[in-house]
Amino acid sequence: MTQDVQMVDVILAKRRGEAHDRATLEAFIGGFVRGEVPDYQVAAWLMAVVWRGMTVRETADLTEVMADSGERLDLDEFAHPVDKHSTGGVGDKTTLVLAPLLASLGASVAKMSGRGLGHTGGTIDKLEAIPGFRAELDQEAFFRQVREIGVAVTGQTKALAPADGLLYALRDVTGTVASLPLIASSVMSKKLAGGARTIVLDVKVGHGTFMRTPDEARALAASMLAIGRHAGRTVRAVLSNMDEPLGTAVGHALEVREAIAALRGGGPPDLRELVVTLAAEVLEAAGLVTARDEVEAALDDGRALARFERWVAAQGGDVTRLDDLEVTADTADWCADASGFLTSLDARRVGAAVSQLGGGRRHKGDVLDLGVGAVMRAKVGDAVRAGDPLITLHHRSGAGLDAALSTLEGAAAFSDRSERRPLILEVVR
Ligand code: URA
Repeated sequence: MTQDVQMVDVILAKRRGEAHDRATLEAFIGGFVRGEVPDYQVAAWLMAVVWRGMTVRETADLTEVMADSGERLDLDEFAHPVDKHSTGGVGDKTTLVLAPLLASLGASVAKMSGRGLGHTGGTIDKLEAIPGFRAELDQEAFFRQVREIGVAVTGQTKALAPADGLLYALRDVTGTVASLPLIASSVMSKKLAGGARTIVLDVKVGHGTFMRTPDEARALAASMLAIGRHAGRTVRAVLSNMDEPLGTAVGHALEVREAIAALRGGGPPDLRELVVTLAAEVLEAAGLVTARDEVEAALDDGRALARFERWVAAQGGDVTRLDDLEVTADTADWCADASGFLTSLDARRVGAAVSQLGGGRRHKGDVLDLGVGAVMRAKVGDAVRAGDPLITLHHRSGAGLDAALSTLEGAAAFSDRSERRPLILEVVR
């Protein structure tokens, strides 16, 4: 902090509901990243933001300051650099399908992706279920690959928006994750630093997501679009329903399998619908493709799959092994305790159960079992009878199985009518 800005005054100002100016945000975020402002003061400020909120201008300023806390990637050499972000899904393997699909239609996807923590999986971990796949690329290899095949995905480096990593770690342990301006600035600071000019956001709505209602999700989307506008980027947001995990597979190797099925023109209908919608939005916004049919054709005629294989091979993955990724042979079914139509399947609990089987991290750096997971045997709207299997768990010699089964207790809800909510609730442009 500078002599003019004392952190306690910043906390008090936010506690009174005042808006900070950019210089104040620069001083204290900069001080925090350099280790000069202690965690406990930042934690108090975060809690004040949860209660008092931030103005649109202030949220945009915070985002820019966070994006400027490290390097920014310069993607100007590419004609159509695009990016995508999801606010956190279970069974969400869309990037595995979307990235090569976009590249096959002329976009450049230079993407930094996260690892999983808690009940949500990370794209980078999923890719590592492919034998040989190297998830960490240096900057030169990363750019070369985008030039040559239009797609590269690497782990989030500390160099990009380091303020977000530090703030997120504090939010996670101080009950301050669920705040619209904090989520919006966290997501958008990484996207601004990532350099893409056109960005599509997948804002999840429902159980086990940050945004419980469509209204909350709409407000978050509007805030992120405003931040993008301030920064000269084109941003669109797709509000997607998460009353159940996406597709039928949760767990690393299982999800890669399902992504490959989608790249072959098949796979679960909800996964395909989400991928095609996200692709159509971002490609249209980037001025590349205007017809949804054209996007679907690239999935059906093998162009997206061919690009996926080139991408995997370029990052060291063995494409001859794509059809025999290791999934554990030990299985146990979790069965319905009532008859009726499935109305929801709590995605957070399914993610947590897979985590307990060894497929998730409780702490950063935990080693994952990429072969465990869960396969949904029924989707929302399906008729089931008491005793029917709802989920088949893939475990390794019983490790974590009892805990996973008890986590699932009560995860399913039933009614006497078949109700399917649309997957895509709204597109915000
Ligand atoms: N995803 C992010 O990147 N940040 C948040 O704060 C929430 C979801």
